[in-house]
Amino acid sequence: MVFLNGKFIAKNQAFVPVMDRGFLFGDGVYEVIPVYNRKLFRLDAHLNRLQESLNSVAIKSPYNVNEWLEIINQIVSYSEHDNQSIYLQITRGSGTKRAHTYNELNPNIYIESNPLHPRSQKEASEGFSAITREDIRWGRCDIKSTSLLANILYTQQAKQHSAEEAILIKNNKVTEGATSNVFLITGGTLYTHPTGTEILSGITRDLILESANSCDIIIKENAFTIDDMLSGDEVWISSSTREVIPITKVDHNLINNGEVGEHWKRVYKHYHKLTN
Ligand code: PLP
Repeated sequence: MVFLNGKFIAKNQAFVPVMDRGFLFGDGVYEVIPVYNRKLFRLDAHLNRLQESLNSVAIKSPYNVNEWLEIINQIVSYSEHDNQSIYLQITRGSGTKRAHTYNELNPNIYIESNPLHPRSQKEASEGFSAITREDIRWGRCDIKSTSLLANILYTQQAKQHSAEEAILIKNNKVTEGATSNVFLITGGTLYTHPTGTEILSGITRDLILESANSCDIIIKENAFTIDDMLSGDEVWISSSTREVIPITKVDHNLINNGEVGEHWKRVYKHYHKLTN
Protein backbone atom coordinates (compact mmCIF):
# COMPACT_ATOMS: atom_id res chain seq x y z
CA MET A 1 0.00 0.00 0.00
CA VAL A 2 1.11 3.55 -0.75
CA PHE A 3 -0.31 6.95 0.13
CA LEU A 4 -1.32 9.26 -2.68
CA ASN A 5 -3.18 12.54 -2.15
CA GLY A 6 -5.19 11.50 0.86
CA LYS A 7 -5.76 7.84 -0.05
CA PHE A 8 -4.08 4.56 0.87
CA ILE A 9 -4.06 2.49 -2.32
CA ALA A 10 -2.16 -0.32 -4.05
CA LYS A 11 1.06 0.91 -5.69
CA ASN A 12 -0.05 -0.29 -9.13
CA GLN A 13 -3.17 1.86 -8.78
CA ALA A 14 -1.23 5.05 -7.91
CA PHE A 15 -1.15 7.56 -10.77
CA VAL A 16 -0.50 11.29 -11.09
CA PRO A 17 -1.55 13.47 -14.05
CA VAL A 18 1.05 14.20 -16.74
CA MET A 19 0.68 17.87 -15.82
CA ASP A 20 2.21 17.12 -12.39
CA ARG A 21 5.07 19.60 -12.07
CA GLY A 22 7.21 16.93 -10.45
CA PHE A 23 6.93 14.93 -13.67
CA LEU A 24 7.44 17.94 -15.95
CA PHE A 25 10.09 19.91 -14.03
CA GLY A 26 11.24 17.97 -10.97
CA ASP A 27 9.37 20.73 -9.12
CA GLY A 28 9.13 19.12 -5.72
CA VAL A 29 10.92 18.02 -2.58
CA TYR A 30 11.26 14.73 -0.72
CA GLU A 31 12.37 13.02 2.46
CA VAL A 32 13.66 9.57 3.33
CA ILE A 33 12.92 8.46 6.89
CA PRO A 34 14.37 5.25 8.34
CA VAL A 35 12.23 3.00 10.52
CA TYR A 36 13.78 0.57 13.01
CA ASN A 37 11.59 -2.04 14.73
CA ARG A 38 8.54 -0.25 13.30
CA LYS A 39 9.52 3.03 14.96
CA LEU A 40 10.24 6.16 12.95
CA PHE A 41 13.83 7.15 13.65
CA ARG A 42 14.51 10.87 14.26
CA LEU A 43 11.14 11.78 12.75
CA ASP A 44 11.27 15.34 14.13
CA ALA A 45 14.56 16.07 12.39
CA HIS A 46 13.23 14.69 9.10
CA LEU A 47 9.98 16.64 9.32
CA ASN A 48 11.90 19.82 10.19
CA ARG A 49 14.12 19.36 7.16
CA LEU A 50 11.06 18.66 5.01
CA GLN A 51 9.51 21.91 6.23
CA GLU A 52 12.73 23.80 5.42
CA SER A 53 12.80 22.31 1.91
CA LEU A 54 9.13 23.24 1.41
CA ASN A 55 9.74 26.79 2.66
CA SER A 56 12.74 27.18 0.34
CA VAL A 57 10.67 26.36 -2.75
CA ALA A 58 7.48 28.10 -1.55
CA ILE A 59 5.27 25.01 -1.36
CA LYS A 60 2.78 25.15 1.50
CA SER A 61 2.93 22.08 3.76
CA PRO A 62 -0.25 20.11 3.16
CA TYR A 63 -0.23 18.56 6.67
CA ASN A 64 0.80 19.45 10.20
CA VAL A 65 3.19 17.30 12.24
CA ASN A 66 0.44 15.17 13.81
CA GLU A 67 -1.19 14.54 10.46
CA TRP A 68 2.15 13.48 8.94
CA LEU A 69 2.75 11.19 11.88
CA GLU A 70 -0.61 9.51 11.47
CA ILE A 71 -0.23 9.00 7.71
CA ILE A 72 3.36 7.77 7.88
CA ASN A 73 2.61 5.38 10.75
CA GLN A 74 -0.24 3.96 8.72
CA ILE A 75 2.18 3.28 5.84
CA VAL A 76 4.61 1.67 8.31
CA SER A 77 1.84 -0.58 9.60
CA TYR A 78 0.99 -1.85 6.09
CA SER A 79 4.52 -3.18 5.55
CA GLU A 80 5.58 -6.67 6.61
CA HIS A 81 9.09 -5.40 7.40
CA ASP A 82 10.20 -4.20 10.83
CA ASN A 83 12.96 -2.04 9.38
CA GLN A 84 11.82 0.26 6.59
CA SER A 85 12.76 3.28 4.59
CA ILE A 86 9.89 5.72 4.08
CA TYR A 87 10.01 7.75 0.87
CA LEU A 88 7.86 10.89 0.99
CA GLN A 89 7.52 13.25 -1.97
CA ILE A 90 5.62 16.50 -2.37
CA THR A 91 5.40 18.19 -5.75
CA ARG A 92 3.96 21.64 -6.36
CA GLY A 93 0.90 20.07 -8.00
CA SER A 94 -0.62 19.72 -11.46
CA GLY A 95 -1.34 22.78 -13.61
CA THR A 96 -3.45 22.95 -16.76
CA LYS A 97 -0.56 23.52 -19.18
CA ARG A 98 3.21 23.21 -19.10
CA ALA A 99 4.54 26.57 -17.97
CA HIS A 100 7.52 27.54 -15.83
CA THR A 101 5.34 29.92 -13.83
CA TYR A 102 2.53 28.64 -11.66
CA ASN A 103 -0.62 29.73 -9.88
CA GLU A 104 -1.71 28.30 -6.57
CA LEU A 105 -1.95 24.51 -6.94
CA ASN A 106 -2.76 21.56 -4.70
CA PRO A 107 0.50 19.70 -4.03
CA ASN A 108 0.70 16.04 -5.04
CA ILE A 109 1.79 13.95 -2.07
CA TYR A 110 3.17 10.45 -2.42
CA ILE A 111 4.50 8.13 0.31
CA GLU A 112 5.80 4.58 0.03
CA SER A 113 7.71 2.19 2.24
CA ASN A 114 10.62 -0.01 1.20
CA PRO A 115 12.50 -2.56 3.28
CA LEU A 116 15.56 -1.08 4.96
CA HIS A 117 18.64 -3.25 4.51
CA PRO A 118 21.75 -1.38 5.61
CA ARG A 119 25.03 -3.29 5.30
CA SER A 120 25.72 -5.69 8.15
CA GLN A 121 28.75 -4.93 10.31
CA LYS A 122 30.57 -7.82 8.64
CA GLU A 123 29.85 -6.46 5.14
CA ALA A 124 30.70 -2.89 6.15
CA SER A 125 33.96 -4.03 7.74
CA GLU A 126 35.26 -5.05 4.31
CA GLY A 127 35.38 -1.37 3.24
CA PHE A 128 34.09 0.15 0.01
CA SER A 129 35.44 2.08 -2.92
CA ALA A 130 34.42 5.49 -4.22
CA ILE A 131 35.12 7.54 -7.31
CA THR A 132 35.56 11.32 -7.33
CA ARG A 133 33.75 13.73 -9.61
CA GLU A 134 33.62 17.51 -9.97
CA ASP A 135 30.58 18.85 -8.13
CA ILE A 136 28.66 20.68 -10.86
CA ARG A 137 25.32 20.81 -9.01
CA TRP A 138 23.32 23.99 -8.46
CA GLY A 139 23.86 26.38 -5.56
CA ARG A 140 21.07 25.11 -3.26
CA CYS A 141 22.18 21.60 -2.39
CA ASP A 142 20.64 22.11 1.07
CA ILE A 143 17.17 21.72 -0.45
CA LYS A 144 16.12 18.06 -0.69
CA SER A 145 14.77 18.60 -4.19
CA THR A 146 13.48 15.84 -6.46
CA SER A 147 15.53 17.46 -9.26
CA LEU A 148 18.40 14.99 -8.94
CA LEU A 149 19.78 14.79 -12.47
CA ALA A 150 23.42 15.43 -11.52
CA ASN A 151 23.18 13.04 -8.54
CA ILE A 152 21.70 10.36 -10.79
CA LEU A 153 24.51 10.69 -13.34
CA TYR A 154 27.17 10.51 -10.60
CA THR A 155 25.54 7.48 -8.98
CA GLN A 156 25.30 5.66 -12.29
CA GLN A 157 28.99 6.38 -12.94
CA ALA A 158 29.84 5.00 -9.49
CA LYS A 159 27.87 1.86 -10.33
CA GLN A 160 29.71 1.50 -13.63
CA HIS A 161 32.97 1.59 -11.65
CA SER A 162 31.59 -0.92 -9.10
CA ALA A 163 31.98 1.85 -6.53
CA GLU A 164 29.73 2.55 -3.57
CA GLU A 165 29.62 6.29 -4.04
CA ALA A 166 30.78 9.27 -6.08
CA ILE A 167 32.53 11.79 -3.82
CA LEU A 168 32.04 15.32 -5.11
CA ILE A 169 34.75 17.97 -5.29
CA LYS A 170 34.16 21.70 -5.62
CA ASN A 171 37.08 24.16 -5.78
CA ASN A 172 39.37 21.32 -4.69
CA LYS A 173 37.26 20.71 -1.54
CA VAL A 174 35.15 17.62 -0.81
CA THR A 175 31.53 18.72 -0.47
CA GLU A 176 29.58 15.46 -0.03
CA GLY A 177 28.70 12.23 -1.82
CA ALA A 178 26.11 11.99 -4.61
CA THR A 179 23.73 10.46 -2.03
CA SER A 180 25.59 10.82 1.28
CA ASN A 181 27.72 13.05 3.50
CA VAL A 182 31.48 12.48 3.68
CA PHE A 183 33.78 12.38 6.73
CA LEU A 184 37.54 12.27 7.10
CA ILE A 185 39.59 11.18 10.10
CA THR A 186 43.09 12.48 10.12
CA GLY A 187 45.40 12.71 13.14
CA GLY A 188 42.49 11.59 15.35
CA THR A 189 40.24 14.52 14.33
CA LEU A 190 36.99 14.14 12.40
CA TYR A 191 36.41 16.59 9.54
CA THR A 192 33.27 17.12 7.50
CA HIS A 193 32.03 19.91 5.23
CA PRO A 194 30.07 22.54 7.19
CA THR A 195 26.32 22.81 6.58
CA GLY A 196 25.17 25.59 4.24
CA THR A 197 24.01 25.71 0.66
CA GLU A 198 26.77 23.44 -0.71
CA ILE A 199 25.61 20.21 0.94
CA LEU A 200 22.47 18.50 2.13
CA SER A 201 22.47 18.69 5.89
CA GLY A 202 22.15 14.94 6.51
CA ILE A 203 20.18 13.74 9.50
CA THR A 204 22.67 10.86 9.72
CA ARG A 205 25.51 13.41 9.53
CA ASP A 206 24.18 14.94 12.76
CA LEU A 207 23.94 11.50 14.35
CA ILE A 208 27.50 10.65 13.33
CA LEU A 209 28.73 13.89 14.88
CA GLU A 210 26.71 13.06 18.01
CA SER A 211 28.25 9.55 18.07
CA ALA A 212 31.79 10.82 17.42
CA ASN A 213 31.38 13.31 20.23
CA SER A 214 30.30 10.52 22.58
CA CYS A 215 33.40 8.58 21.50
CA ASP A 216 35.57 11.60 22.49
CA ILE A 217 36.65 12.25 18.92
CA ILE A 218 37.53 15.88 18.16
CA ILE A 219 35.18 17.28 15.50
CA LYS A 220 35.92 20.04 13.01
CA GLU A 221 33.15 21.02 10.63
CA ASN A 222 35.69 22.25 8.11
CA ALA A 223 35.95 21.42 4.42
CA PHE A 224 38.95 19.27 3.47
CA THR A 225 40.76 18.89 0.16
CA ILE A 226 41.00 15.85 -2.05
CA ASP A 227 44.68 15.53 -1.05
CA ASP A 228 43.72 15.64 2.66
CA MET A 229 41.29 12.83 1.95
CA LEU A 230 43.78 10.67 0.04
CA SER A 231 46.43 11.04 2.74
CA GLY A 232 43.92 10.70 5.60
CA ASP A 233 43.46 7.80 8.02
CA GLU A 234 39.78 7.05 7.48
CA VAL A 235 37.03 8.13 5.09
CA TRP A 236 33.35 7.41 5.79
CA ILE A 237 30.06 8.18 4.12
CA SER A 238 26.67 8.43 5.83
CA SER A 239 23.01 8.40 4.90
CA SER A 240 19.72 7.30 6.39
CA THR A 241 19.62 4.09 4.36
CA ARG A 242 23.34 3.23 4.51
CA GLU A 243 24.06 4.49 8.05
CA VAL A 244 27.85 5.00 8.25
CA ILE A 245 30.17 2.96 6.09
CA PRO A 246 33.92 3.11 5.56
CA ILE A 247 35.52 3.98 2.22
CA THR A 248 38.91 2.33 1.85
CA LYS A 249 39.63 3.15 -1.79
CA VAL A 250 39.11 6.45 -3.61
CA ASP A 251 39.66 6.26 -7.37
CA HIS A 252 42.88 4.20 -7.54
CA ASN A 253 44.16 5.21 -4.11
CA LEU A 254 43.95 3.09 -0.98
CA ILE A 255 43.03 4.86 2.25
CA ASN A 256 44.87 3.53 5.31
CA ASN A 257 46.35 0.75 3.12
CA GLY A 258 42.81 -0.40 2.39
CA GLU A 259 42.09 -1.20 6.05
CA VAL A 260 38.96 -0.12 7.90
CA GLY A 261 39.94 2.16 10.79
CA GLU A 262 39.37 1.94 14.53
CA HIS A 263 37.45 5.22 14.79
CA TRP A 264 34.83 3.93 12.35
CA LYS A 265 34.34 0.78 14.43
CA ARG A 266 33.65 2.84 17.56
CA VAL A 267 31.32 5.30 15.87
CA TYR A 268 29.48 2.50 14.04
CA LYS A 269 28.89 0.75 17.37
CA HIS A 270 27.61 3.93 18.98
CA TYR A 271 25.34 4.69 16.03
CA HIS A 272 23.75 1.27 16.44
CA LYS A 273 23.07 1.98 20.07
CA LEU A 274 21.02 4.96 18.89
CA THR A 275 19.02 2.97 16.33
CA ASN A 276 18.22 0.13 18.75
N1 PLP B 1 23.70 14.26 0.79
C1 PLP B 1 22.95 13.90 -0.26
C2 PLP B 1 23.20 14.54 -1.59
C3 PLP B 1 21.96 12.93 -0.13
O1 PLP B 1 21.20 12.58 -1.19
C4 PLP B 1 21.77 12.32 1.14
C5 PLP B 1 20.74 11.29 1.33
O2 PLP B 1 20.04 10.89 0.45
C6 PLP B 1 22.57 12.72 2.20
C7 PLP B 1 23.52 13.70 2.00
C8 PLP B 1 22.40 12.10 3.57
O3 PLP B 1 21.23 12.57 4.19
P1 PLP B 1 20.52 11.73 5.33
O4 PLP B 1 21.57 11.37 6.32
O5 PLP B 1 19.51 12.66 5.90
O6 PLP B 1 19.92 10.53 4.68
